[in-house]
Amino acid sequence: MFNALVLTQEEKATFAEVRQIQESDLPDGEVLVRVACSSINYKDGLAVTGLGKIIRNFPMVPGIDFAGEVLESSDKRYQTGDKVILTGWGVGENHWGGLAQKARVKADWLVPMPSSCDDQKAMKIGTAGLTAMLCVQALQTAGLKPSDGDVLVTGASGGVGSVAVTLLTQLGYSVVASSGRVEQNGSYLKALGASSVIDRSELEIDARPLEKQRWAGVVDTVGNKVLATALAQMQYGGAAAICGLAGGYALPTTVMPFILRGVSILGIDSVSCPYEKRVAAWEQVLALLPNRFYQEACESITLEQVAEYAQKIVKGKITGRVLVRL
Ligand code: NAP
Repeated sequence: MFNALVLTQEEKATFAEVRQIQESDLPDGEVLVRVACSSINYKDGLAVTGLGKIIRNFPMVPGIDFAGEVLESSDKRYQTGDKVILTGWGVGENHWGGLAQKARVKADWLVPMPSSCDDQKAMKIGTAGLTAMLCVQALQTAGLKPSDGDVLVTGASGGVGSVAVTLLTQLGYSVVASSGRVEQNGSYLKALGASSVIDRSELEIDARPLEKQRWAGVVDTVGNKVLATALAQMQYGGAAAICGLAGGYALPTTVMPFILRGVSILGIDSVSCPYEKRVAAWEQVLALLPNRFYQEACESITLEQVAEYAQKIVKGKITGRVLVRL
């Protein structure tokens, strides 16, 4: 028997409880993993609180990412004792996930843990960090250079935002962090490397189709009016990597930034990101993140605290990344 966070649903309300389950309860898959750590992402918050319709089949073990050690494998790519990382692929949504001491998953969903990594580092980065790296790589591929000008990161104090601020800074970009918590997190964001911090309310407006040009690039985790304003403020030829909807899934924009300033939107998905791209993103995020990131931007909790932290993340009250020790 081992511990798992189990979600159940009654009359449309979701309940989360730490329970003892056994290996035979786990879904099919080629690889059984002893999970060492998982993490809390925004999607986990939506799933555990039931605020987002993330989970359709109950009971469900949530947890969209995990790191750990292979216990059994019927796939020749993985042997007992190998260290592995999983993010995405619908795990923790429609296949039992990482918020349990064991998980059984498809071999195709795993990546081998890079030699420069360990369980804790992997989950301090987690889905959020991998996604931030994919955003930054997309901007680089689009041609964004540090000399082009300021790069805006929205939802900057969150998981994706904190990693994006740090990665862009490490690569020499001048980062402007947008946050709804400037007073609380201004010095945190500057410590991660932001050259300045602006209040989210500056962007959460009904922007005109085109505004004064401010941003050479954008990493957006928020969507809605914040993103629409950022697009209206893009410099000629700028690119925005967009991955999130913490402020809502709407995008009240016009065609103007695209047809008059040649602005590009780069959509980022980490869930079904192909294997080679994932492995390359893991290698780069590990190479770029300085030790201070793991110390300053991450906290660590137990499985029993997940329900409380799920409430916090959907209310926008988490700063940085939250590691869950299994
Ligand atoms: P997070 O840690 O909660 O960060 C979100 C941040 O957005 C918050 O810290 C807050 O930052 C800001 N925010 C919260 N509520 C807001 C609101 N109502 N309006 C405007 N801003 C708000 O979440 P995360 O795990 O980093 O994920 C961020 C977003 O990216 C989520 O929407 C998530 O679903 C998405 N995501 C997508 C992918 C993908 O593959 N596309 C992968 C990972 C995450 P401030 O207080 O600093 O403003």
